Amino acid sequence: MDYDALFTEQLDALREDGNYRVFAELERRCGQFPRAACHDAANPGEVIVWCSNDYLGMGQHPSVRTAMKDAIDRTGAGAGGTRNISGTTHEHCLLEAELADLHGKDAALLFTSGYVSNWAALSTLGARLPNAVILSDALNHASMIEGIRHSRAQKLIWKHNDPEDLDRKLAALPEGSTPIVAFESVYSMDGDICPMAEIVEVAEKHGAMTYLDEVHAVGLYGARGGGISERDGLADRITLIEGTLGKAYGVVGGYITGSAPLCDFIRSFSSGFIFTTALPPAVAAGARTSIAHLKTSQIERAQQRRQVKRLRAKLDACGIPHLDNPSHIIPVMIKDPVKCRQIADILMQQFGIYVQPINYPTVPKGTERLRFTPGPLHTDADIDHLVGALNTLWQQCGIARAVA
Ligand code: PMP
Repeated sequence: MDYDALFTEQLDALREDGNYRVFAELERRCGQFPRAACHDAANPGEVIVWCSNDYLGMGQHPSVRTAMKDAIDRTGAGAGGTRNISGTTHEHCLLEAELADLHGKDAALLFTSGYVSNWAALSTLGARLPNAVILSDALNHASMIEGIRHSRAQKLIWKHNDPEDLDRKLAALPEGSTPIVAFESVYSMDGDICPMAEIVEVAEKHGAMTYLDEVHAVGLYGARGGGISERDGLADRITLIEGTLGKAYGVVGGYITGSAPLCDFIRSFSSGFIFTTALPPAVAAGARTSIAHLKTSQIERAQQRRQVKRLRAKLDACGIPHLDNPSHIIPVMIKDPVKCRQIADILMQQFGIYVQPINYPTVPKGTERLRFTPGPLHTDADIDHLVGALNTLWQQCGIARAVA
């Protein structure tokens, strides 16, 4: 059997659809973010990164780097085991306490990534709670979808950000069901924010548990970076808050927070927590420092907001169409996979601007886009440079402009 031929056939089909992913090989350089060296043979040189999820540049923050280096010198490189077998270090426990405090919950539980935390927690809840029914927002992330699927619990999809549809679906559940409402606060591809108060109200009315993914909000929203649930004063009404340490906090890892019995339940039954090596203690130390910094400092969030506003205003002035949302994510809509890649290639080759094209299956076909994430370290000149380049390309490629 020629297995390679089987692989190649499917890869060729992806290429034909314009959906084959090409990664830019970057070298991040400390203290220079969002500037990075690009090692692609076709595009060697310096680029300005416009699509990073290191939203606040904390991945290069001096205090985070120092915390990680100190922890390596104190404890070494790795955790030495799974959490169950020798891998629970003091740094893990300190970080879990910091996370519980961040969200005002009794307890927290660390995972190796946000993806794993969603997958592991939802698959365990769905599989183990009696008569579990998971009501999932239509645009939930792949990690939640996979977790729900793996749980084999009944799944109902409610219309995106539509509490009325959720209400109808909850009302129709048979007596004795254990409903779990799974949703996100900031949706990463459209940058829209859920109507959290209404969703919580509906869930409470039906006695449903709430499972909230705050991956694109922690560190960024709320006075202490506790996400939209903190900003809107709703954290104590959400059963489980899930987040990442890999985006605004700039490191890596995922977590859940909730009541002590809930976290103990996942800790005790979830294979995605139990059977894998714990994060390195240095990672935990770096993440804890980043969280602690963003609990008190408003500087990074304020400057990010300023730059997001500035980029939006400049795009509007040129008629470059972008989704209108209240978050820090600016999706510029291209609506064609081939054009989307072409524009990204030209931006890289001619302007030293790196933005990864977002194509199917990450977003539905026909909604291909460039997703810009301005941060506090992008300068005004960087923004002018980006908008100037997009303006030139819009002219060259004949893409429709937004009507003012
Ligand atoms: N949830 C959402 C909504 C995400 O967008 C992502 C990753 N992009 C994750 C979870 C997974 O988080 P992590 O990158 O830490 O694995």
